[in-house]
Amino acid sequence: MAKGLVWFRTDLRLDDNPALNAALREYEAVLAIYVFSQHQWEVHNESNIKHEFLINNLILLKDSLERLGIPLTAINTESFKTLPKDLSSFCTDQKIDHVFWNNEFGLNEANRDAASIETLNNISIKSSSFNDQVIYEPGFLKTAQGKPFSVFTPFKRRWIENFDTNFLDIAKPSKLKESYSTQGDLSNLKFAKTHSANIDLWPAGESAAEEKLKNFLQLKAQSYSASRNSPIIDGTSRISPYLALGILSPKRCILEGLKLNNFEFTSGNRGICKWIDEIVWREFYRNIMHSFPKVSKNRPFQDYTNSIKWRHSNEELDAFYNGKTGFPIVDAGIRQMLKEGWMHNRLRMVVAMFFTKNMLHDWRLGEKFFMQHLIDGDFSSNNGGWQWSSSTGTDSAPYFRIFNPISQSQNFDSEGEFIKKFIPELKDVPAAQIHQPKDDFFSSTNYPEPILDLKESRLRAIQAFKDAREVSSV
Ligand SMILES: Cc1cc2nc3c(=O)[nH]c(=O)nc-3n(C[C@H](O)[C@H](O)[C@H](O)COP(=O)(O)OP(=O)(O)OC[C@H]3O[C@@H](n4cnc5c(N)ncnc54)[C@H](O)[C@@H]3O)c2cc1C
Repeated sequence: MAKGLVWFRTDLRLDDNPALNAALREYEAVLAIYVFSQHQWEVHNESNIKHEFLINNLILLKDSLERLGIPLTAINTESFKTLPKDLSSFCTDQKIDHVFWNNEFGLNEANRDAASIETLNNISIKSSSFNDQVIYEPGFLKTAQGKPFSVFTPFKRRWIENFDTNFLDIAKPSKLKESYSTQGDLSNLKFAKTHSANIDLWPAGESAAEEKLKNFLQLKAQSYSASRNSPIIDGTSRISPYLALGILSPKRCILEGLKLNNFEFTSGNRGICKWIDEIVWREFYRNIMHSFPKVSKNRPFQDYTNSIKWRHSNEELDAFYNGKTGFPIVDAGIRQMLKEGWMHNRLRMVVAMFFTKNMLHDWRLGEKFFMQHLIDGDFSSNNGGWQWSSSTGTDSAPYFRIFNPISQSQNFDSEGEFIKKFIPELKDVPAAQIHQPKDDFFSSTNYPEPILDLKESRLRAIQAFKDAREVSSV
């Protein structure tokens, strides 16, 4: 009997899974594989909590696939370089005819896939790839001059102009006529817990993801525009970890959102429109990663920012990494990430701007720190977010417009409730004083002194960017 193999990567679901559907359509016997590389995980700075979440999801995916008659096996490989050979050996052992997968758009991932196609081809095994992470394949949408977009608003306009609701057809996988007799095996997956974040906040599996989506759309989406910036309000969907591992598809999110808004992108309910915008931002950053490979090579999008003289203070870094900078809103954001594996979007911007502007530290260190702790770590969104905040990126915040963490705190956590939740040392400080570091009210707490002066550090950052501009224009 001819056999197909579905190679699962960041698409750990049955719903809206084009590779799985194609394999089921074409083959009577279908197997599934997940290939893990500890080394690659570490090279990409992926977090330990994301690793735990991955394993929890694979266990549930194995059960769901078994109900379709598909055994899921996990194997280990040294790195992306050794992967094609290990994948081919598995295919040879199992007498596979055809491998199916959904594309990943990272540079290393694309190289890995090209090598896999070649290796499989050499032993006469077919391969087919599909798109599940985006509506349009990265690079497909172009400016009027035929160039890749580097600014979000025109990208989104073109994204909507080209949109056809047929794009949202989602096929459900069918059960195999005859179950494959072999059992799946995940025993190769080893995991040593090294994080202390609360994984219970992130129940695994497709039904948990669908529940989160449903709950958000029914109860919170309509007021998303108003509530999305307050970290104490649970006003966003918190589906990012599920999108990052593909437990939920972006297409499913857009479809369910549009259903509640008469299939309108720009009119109707503002909250839903804004929320769909955010999913499009995710696609935009995938396009940036695809069209500008330099961002995957540790380089900034804005070349002149290569000349910025970043500072380096181990003492300041240590304070930052532990949420002890002496700026309550910054520390509360960092401590949220250490505790939950997730940080509210408003605080990601505040924290990243504080790090790259007030501390004037290299955005790449902050980018790595986030990846190492986030359960939703996603290279293109994280890189895009850090480069936006540090004004080194595409469509970034202008370098002279620097968030003031105190006014951000007053505006978005006016009662200091979020700060108190994550910084218990400050629980008795009155709301009016809690935003301001080093206020007299802090004297009886063991909360640290601020590591820098906001005014001076702001001017220092502006000067550093101006100097870099001058150097690069000579
Ligand atoms: C410095 C920085 C680092 C970031 N790192 C990551 C990361 O590693 N992984 C990640 O998924 N997002 C990242 N983001 C984007 C954003 O903060 C998170 O996607 C969002 O907070 C996730 O929460 P949510 O699911 O409740 O989002 P919602 O507000 O409910 O939005 C729905 C979905 O839209 C997408 N989205 C929302 N905002 C953005 C954005 N600004 N850019 C791209 N996609 C977005 C996410 O997939 C999100 O799950 C980062 C932002 C910044 C400023």
